[in-house]
Amino acid sequence: MAALKQAPVTAVELMDRAALRSVQGKPGMPAYLHELDDEVAALLVDARAADRETLDRDVRQIEQSLADMSVVMPVAFTYDPHEYQALWNIRKGLFPAVGAVRQTGTTVIIEDVAFPVPELATAVRQLQALFVKYGYHEALIFGHALEGNLHFVFTQDFSTQTEIQRYQGLMDDVCALVVDGYGGSLKAEHGTGRNMAPFVEMEWGSDAYQLMWEIKRLFDPENLLNPGVILNEDPEIHLKPLPAADEIVDKCIECGFCEMICPSWDLTLTPHQRIVSWREITRQNASDPAGERLKQLQDDFVYQGWIPVWLMVSVPPAVL
Ligand code: SF4
Repeated sequence: MAALKQAPVTAVELMDRAALRSVQGKPGMPAYLHELDDEVAALLVDARAADRETLDRDVRQIEQSLADMSVVMPVAFTYDPHEYQALWNIRKGLFPAVGAVRQTGTTVIIEDVAFPVPELATAVRQLQALFVKYGYHEALIFGHALEGNLHFVFTQDFSTQTEIQRYQGLMDDVCALVVDGYGGSLKAEHGTGRNMAPFVEMEWGSDAYQLMWEIKRLFDPENLLNPGVILNEDPEIHLKPLPAADEIVDKCIECGFCEMICPSWDLTLTPHQRIVSWREITRQNASDPAGERLKQLQDDFVYQGWIPVWLMVSVPPAVL
């Protein structure tokens, strides 16, 4: 990987065998995915240049960088847009592939950790061993290899204590592996959500953690800004499932991909925000049905939640 770091690449995406297996056989996926051994991993190497001559030269340099790497198939670059789009589709299809096959009532967990680049291969092996230890046989790993950034994805059932303990064991071991084992980072390119909030102190130490709280309380004394995200006083917040809210709403994995393309962005709520709000309404309804917070949420939802839906169903798409 160190050799590729010096090469003129724009992206190097790592996919483990479980990741490749999750998309093999799907439309547009290469047939050779079926034939790969259980131990392989794939690197998708992307290079770009302003002209063909430069690109040819860059590709030759990248091929030289890979010359000493042990490979199961010849290293091959393509200039055909259909072919390289198909290769990128493998990578981009990984996260949705897990969400698509999850059982109703389970949650898709995606995490985002970073290891030192020279130790990335060993770290992947150890991460895979933790998935085996805790029985997460469908868990897959992909990531941005040159940054040592790995995402791992799996589904989790929070409906039984046994399942919750299994998840707790995995998360404890994964965080210990990243922080104590490698001095890595529990968040690489994405923000710290409630799932990783209980481990912020472990990563940064008590002094830094207390300082973060002091700053948070200075700027947000009423805890209005993203309460519970990044900093959370509940050490088991990551073990609390999303409430079942509605057959359609429950399919949402809160990836946030709908935010940027939503026509109601800046007007009211996006689909993601509506879903999060509806989940909170459901949660409040179950825990404090006479509470002021529930009433406030329901009142706000009349405009923030329903108006864009009414608009979209009542205004012809051509007008929108
Ligand atoms: S509704 Fe939005 S946040 Fe939910 S799964 Fe679909 S794209 Fe992702």
